[in-house]
Amino acid sequence: MTQARPLIALYPGSFDPVTLGHEDIARRTLRVVDQLVVGIAETSSQAKTPAFSVEERLELLREVFRDEPRIECEAFSGLLVDYARQKGAGLVVRGLRAVSDFEYEFQMAQMNRELSPGLEFVFLTPDAHLSFLSASIVKEVARLGGDVSSFVSAPVLRRLKERFR
Ligand code: ADP
Repeated sequence: MTQARPLIALYPGSFDPVTLGHEDIARRTLRVVDQLVVGIAETSSQAKTPAFSVEERLELLREVFRDEPRIECEAFSGLLVDYARQKGAGLVVRGLRAVSDFEYEFQMAQMNRELSPGLEFVFLTPDAHLSFLSASIVKEVARLGGDVSSFVSAPVLRRLKERFR
């Protein structure tokens, strides 16, 4: 009897830092795949001046997903399609918030399909109360001394307080 290969998904992003929005998408993904690789895109043009280093972001990701053995967190550089192939991922997961995410995500998915026709892109929407949340807005509020405890996990909150004390 042949055994089906595990379905592996890649969830790429900057995760600067990981928010409850990211966590929601990652945990939802686990309902439909066997394993999930959360990949910090080191060369992402979206994170030119990150608040946290790649190492710090990775440490936080590993901490928030510590309870989930089916999630592996790593950093990667270079093309997303190459990394997906290297990890054996057959699909890439992205979160869709408001309409504003759509154009960029659509462009990126189409380009990546040209580069790697076998790779599928899947878009998930978060819980309604997280649908306006971005790492940038969390950093902005934390920097100004606002309470972001409803939007990030405890280790992230601690790190934000240290950073923006
Ligand atoms: P951001 O800095 O905008 O939070 P990232 O580059 O870290 O974004 O995002 C990685 C992926 O996670 C993207 O697909 C993004 O749309 C998605 N994402 C980020 N925040 C949320 C959220 N609150 N709900 C759903 N998806 C999200």
